[in-house]
Amino acid sequence: MTENVSGVTADSSVDPAEKQYRFDTLKVRGAYEPSEHNLAFSVPIYQTTSYEMGDTARGDRLFRQEELGFLYTRVGNPTVDVFERRVAQLDGAVGAIALASGMAAVSHSILNLADAGDHIIASPYLYGGTFDLFKSILPRYGITVELAPSLESEAIQKLVRPNTKALFIESIANPKGYVADIATLAELAHANGIPLIVDNTFATPYLIQPIKHGADVVVYSATKGLSGHGNIIAGLILEAGTFDYGNGRFPQFTDKGYTLRDRDNVYRSFLEVFPETPFTVRVRLALLNYLGAALGPFDAYLALLGLETLSERTEKQLANVRALIEYLQGNEFVSWVDYASLPSSPNYELATRYAPKGSGTIFAFGFKGSVEEQEQFIDATRLFSYQVNVGDAKSLIVNNAKTTHSELSPEEQAAAELAPETIRLSVGLEDPQDLIDDLDQAFAAVFGRRPATAQRA
Ligand SMILES: *Cc1c(COP(=O)(O)O)cnc(C)c1O
Repeated sequence: MTENVSGVTADSSVDPAEKQYRFDTLKVRGAYEPSEHNLAFSVPIYQTTSYEMGDTARGDRLFRQEELGFLYTRVGNPTVDVFERRVAQLDGAVGAIALASGMAAVSHSILNLADAGDHIIASPYLYGGTFDLFKSILPRYGITVELAPSLESEAIQKLVRPNTKALFIESIANPKGYVADIATLAELAHANGIPLIVDNTFATPYLIQPIKHGADVVVYSATKGLSGHGNIIAGLILEAGTFDYGNGRFPQFTDKGYTLRDRDNVYRSFLEVFPETPFTVRVRLALLNYLGAALGPFDAYLALLGLETLSERTEKQLANVRALIEYLQGNEFVSWVDYASLPSSPNYELATRYAPKGSGTIFAFGFKGSVEEQEQFIDATRLFSYQVNVGDAKSLIVNNAKTTHSELSPEEQAAAELAPETIRLSVGLEDPQDLIDDLDQAFAAVFGRRPATAQRA
């Protein structure tokens, strides 16, 4: 297997032989061949800044993209490379790049498409950090992000302008658990000559594989369920390999540049040199290279370790989600439970179509009580940990309006349909009865008695 300067290109694409293996095999063995790593059976942590170039002739070949090989860990590292290619296999992507965080993945995916003067259309249901990046940071650099009033096609189509460069959505948006109609939105984006970017963090490739539904770019916070143990910050960008960046809207892919010149000093474009994976290679060479949000090899190793149990963790968490929802649904101190896979959810049809196994390991409920009582309730939980994180092996609780989504003004929270009584649970791997008992005793601590529940009735 060949590696390039950047640790990507030919080598980031999926090995056709490995493509025959199924998800659970790939998640523990994909993109790794012990014979290429001194027979080490566990993926080694390549704790090195740089790599020997050998002689100057090889150095020349590396810098002309004629030979593939690692140069410097900011732009490519063998441990990180296994992580990138393994997730690419799980998602059916042709290329992938890991970054130091999910926010780096979100910001780089936009910066790779939009320059000053450009316009992005985004879902109104967004992660708080993404919302703030779009609202407060990107506009300072001349990139306007317009939040659609809804995910309806007509509403989004109305916002498209000649300078629109992407449509950005989340496959499952939190805390309400909105499931996006990826195929319809991909069609709409393509009809307008722009790619669809899908933040698939809450779904993970185990529950939804956006590329199969037409997404062009997939971003992850690997910090969450993908790695699943609450011990790293990491992100990824994947590309489907189907979007035509040479359609005239994206000169950054077709402009010929000095950095990509060949041996005869002929300038070349990203699309010419990397026709299979122009998106992720450009993120690597033109953005990560200079903005510098590189993932370290040890964090990539931990991410790989977490990934090995993605399916098993998610199945157990989904079972715990079902048990908790059953307890909360008939509970007198709960006004509503939002989980798209519930038949009562307005999102039920989309959830069953896109995430038939279940619409994630995170859900929200409405606390029937005052803000003070809501805070007492959270403080009274002993097992659920009060945290802004999600996707940990341990169960977490949070009041979103005051924490994760506090960047949003009350009007913006209303537009995102985030009610103040919302409590979000990120469900871990504990015994479900212990989790139920914990909520039960917390309700009792606030209201002076255990709730009447449908379960108990
Ligand atoms: C957490 C999160 C991010 C940001 O990821 P970090 O790894 O924390 O930088 C982006 N999108 C979604 C949906 C997230 O949940």
